[in-house]
Amino acid sequence: MNPRFLRLSFVLSCCAALAAQTESPIQQARVKEALEWLASDELLGRDTPSEGLERAAEWLCKRFEAAGLTPGTADGYRHSYALSGERLDSDAVSLVVRATVDGKEQRLELMAGADVRLQRPGSAAEGAAEDAIVIVGEDARFARTLQFGGARKPTVIIVPESHAAWAAAAGARSTLSRRIRNASPMFLVREAAVPEAMRKMGVELDKPVPPSWSVEWKGAAAAPIDIPLANIVGVVKGSDKSDEFVVVSAHYDHIGVGPSDSGDGIHNGADDDATGTTAVLLLAEAIAKGPSPRRSIAFVCFSAEEKGLRGSAAFVENPPMAIEQIRCNVNLEMLGRPEKGKQQKAWVTGREYSDFAALAGESLQRGGIELIDFPMARQLFAASDNLSFAKKGIVAHSISAGSLHEDYHKPTDEASRIDIAHMTAVIRGLEQLVRDLADREAMPQWNDEGRKVIERLGSR
Ligand SMILES: [Zn+2]
Repeated sequence: MNPRFLRLSFVLSCCAALAAQTESPIQQARVKEALEWLASDELLGRDTPSEGLERAAEWLCKRFEAAGLTPGTADGYRHSYALSGERLDSDAVSLVVRATVDGKEQRLELMAGADVRLQRPGSAAEGAAEDAIVIVGEDARFARTLQFGGARKPTVIIVPESHAAWAAAAGARSTLSRRIRNASPMFLVREAAVPEAMRKMGVELDKPVPPSWSVEWKGAAAAPIDIPLANIVGVVKGSDKSDEFVVVSAHYDHIGVGPSDSGDGIHNGADDDATGTTAVLLLAEAIAKGPSPRRSIAFVCFSAEEKGLRGSAAFVENPPMAIEQIRCNVNLEMLGRPEKGKQQKAWVTGREYSDFAALAGESLQRGGIELIDFPMARQLFAASDNLSFAKKGIVAHSISAGSLHEDYHKPTDEASRIDIAHMTAVIRGLEQLVRDLADREAMPQWNDEGRKVIERLGSR
């Protein structure tokens, strides 16, 4: 190679390095990295409350800090609130089972934590029953029971050690209160701890009269507690309108571990709503790096959305700024699964209620994203955290860039099914929108239909 060209290529590569330094953080590789972590099996579906959710919270705080965001509350990035719940402990539960196998009574004492874990607490700590329901193997009954069971009769579900439900039930943990009176407990028992002959006594779907076990248990009650939870809030301060806020939000929780057809019970919630959370994070990083917006922008990740929008409800009840200072909420939901031919398109829930969609459509278009209609967009207005803001009169909509696909709220909502290129383009478009909202003079307003709707919703 000619040395002159070598020198030129050196200069060029320096320029490239400089350009890379100022390049937008909204790159496919970074979108993928954040999304894959939030939706990883390690976080066990980010249930509220759970250790996986807490790990996601810690990670978001660190990323907000690294992005140089101002902590959103006096206590840092955490906007703390509490929900009433219960504390249960799989390491304190004891279970003895008896079953008659081939005319002989078999007795099995199961070791707390290692062989038996508490899936659902009972009203009483101790008890005994002759007719506990026993479920072996994953089938429809298993699925239903895991989701709704444990109230009528004591239930024993035999699971392989590899099952996500087994991992999620380890040790001491908290759950939100379910308020079931006279509830019987539900136990998980490790498959290998049960002799095969006894396992065969379990319920199978084709048996008309399911055999049952007699059981005796201790330590199966739960203690009422207040569960500490957090929304994560970071702020990019505005310049001349810094005491007005645009809130950009998504929920970082999902529904945890549950039944599955395939044996993978982890509901990863990749599209719902690791995509929205990833978008909030990358928007925060990109906007913090660029010129100051006129209004302040609060980037908020909510917990407990899947438990009835309770994180956002706690936020608007006790916001870290005065509620009147919040001028608009852009909530992001399910950005990664476009229908065929709908790449780089997005839609707004309840677009007929305000002039938000008209303003947003124009900004998004400049950012390379087209706003389209979605058949269920009106109903979905009341189905995410924007509703908590709307109830307070704040113009608040959710933006989605996909569909209610077949993996919605299923273990198959996995990161590998997300269209990263589409999602990255959408986040870039959203950057334009968020900047415009923070900078523009007039803010979006409800129209008459919108005012009627939020009045009705608010009085509920
Ligand atoms: Zn969601």
